[in-house]
Amino acid sequence: MERVQIALETALPGFSNEYADVLKLFFRLEAFWVNPEAGTEGVFASEAAIDPVTGLVTERIIHTHEESNGSMRSAFTFRGQSLALEAALPQDEDDAEHYAIVVKRIRKRTSKTALYQLLKQITGHQPPWGSLTGIRPTRLVYEGLARGLSLDAAAHSVETTFDVTHEKAQLLKEIVAVQQTLPLPAVAEADVYLSIPFCRTRCAYCSFPGEAVGKGKMIPPYLHALMWEMEESARMMQEAGLKLRALYVGGGTPTALGEEDFARLMERTLELFPGAVEYTVEAGRPDTITRGKLETLKRLGVGRVSINPQTMNDETLRVIGRDHTAAQTVAAFEMAREIGFSDINMDVIVGLPGETPAHFRHTMDEILRLNPDSLTVHTLAIKRSSRLNLEKAPLPDADVAARMVRMGEEAAAAMQMRPYYLYRQKYMAGQQQNVGYARQGCACLYNIDIMEENTSIVAMGAGAISKRVFPDRELRIERAPNVTNVQVYIDRTDEMMQRKKTLFLG
Ligand code: SF4
Repeated sequence: MERVQIALETALPGFSNEYADVLKLFFRLEAFWVNPEAGTEGVFASEAAIDPVTGLVTERIIHTHEESNGSMRSAFTFRGQSLALEAALPQDEDDAEHYAIVVKRIRKRTSKTALYQLLKQITGHQPPWGSLTGIRPTRLVYEGLARGLSLDAAAHSVETTFDVTHEKAQLLKEIVAVQQTLPLPAVAEADVYLSIPFCRTRCAYCSFPGEAVGKGKMIPPYLHALMWEMEESARMMQEAGLKLRALYVGGGTPTALGEEDFARLMERTLELFPGAVEYTVEAGRPDTITRGKLETLKRLGVGRVSINPQTMNDETLRVIGRDHTAAQTVAAFEMAREIGFSDINMDVIVGLPGETPAHFRHTMDEILRLNPDSLTVHTLAIKRSSRLNLEKAPLPDADVAARMVRMGEEAAAAMQMRPYYLYRQKYMAGQQQNVGYARQGCACLYNIDIMEENTSIVAMGAGAISKRVFPDRELRIERAPNVTNVQVYIDRTDEMMQRKKTLFLG
């Protein structure tokens, strides 16, 4: 990707993050300034000079935006080319707040699309997800359905409005079709999430602010604080009239806890939160999985576990700091099957450092042999605070990433799985996506709920974010985040609990 350094002069500076996201679809954006005031020299003075840090010349994009007589016009000029888009303004309405939200949305879409079309014209590049930069593209299909369109028409509308490739639009359509066969959350239902923010070592691509287990000194006070928050939250759910839907124990790596601690936590979890339609435990790293922990889960009725290889190539596992082998993944999986788990998920990542399509083929062949019940195919995203970012690891080419993503799709289809949830992240290899595939009856409701944002979540533990979904016209969502630092969480658990009560009880 071409490296650029951009100064954007815009009449709508409120959307500067969105403009940066659009620029990143076409360029590697090394530096970006918005609205430098002409004449203050600063950025524009360097336009003709090479930046000593990035080695680039600053290029300028001019954005004008006008609104009058019921319509708006947004125009961008860059590298000697210009492109303008027009859109109608909606009829004024009594609810001024709602009207302002709708107008803001049209302004954002019109200006982002104008910038996208100009950059596509200049570069000749077609991003797989077109001008979409958000993390939840299925939302747009649901918006179409809410407008009365058929599923086909809603997917087609996303394809044409946002210049999404036909292949991706079909993927969205299939995901929504699968989701429509699953039970919808009721208004008074909520999911529960428990965070175990410990891992044995830190993976190179991870930006999760958890703790390495180390000597495990933090674990007893953490579990003490967490169990207090669980008791208070169970009481609060009762008071708020919230019925439990799905429960997910994630992290981190919940199975990084010792067998006794793990059993104590899971027993308390099931006592306090009985009757969920689905219980999932992220077993994560195969080297943390023991017969004892799996038997605890089975005894308590936890039906779904995730055993995550990420890759079946030992050399890659070493490079990314996973500290386990492919053979350990196979052993953990086979042990889980032997104990009787019939709903096992596996996660893999496309684009890990040094991996070619041949490496990914090998991973998929091994997964096919194990034959899990669901599979999540992630695409590597370089997160800012990860080791891969610090080491400036390169992402694979877009074509290579696309080939590997297709291999994941084909393997899932060969195991009779269908895609059932999808999300995107920033800085993904080849601007691809993460997709969960599952066999009939094995789709994880919690994964859908968290992505579609249609269910409240009562979350506990360090870094967990509670979310209340208000079923009003705009599907308003309010959040109460817990602090991510484990020690601060332990010290201030009561404050976290109070925030959650304010959110759910008012
Ligand atoms: S197991 Fe997951 S949470 Fe733990 S370091 Fe690796 S990516 Fe991060």
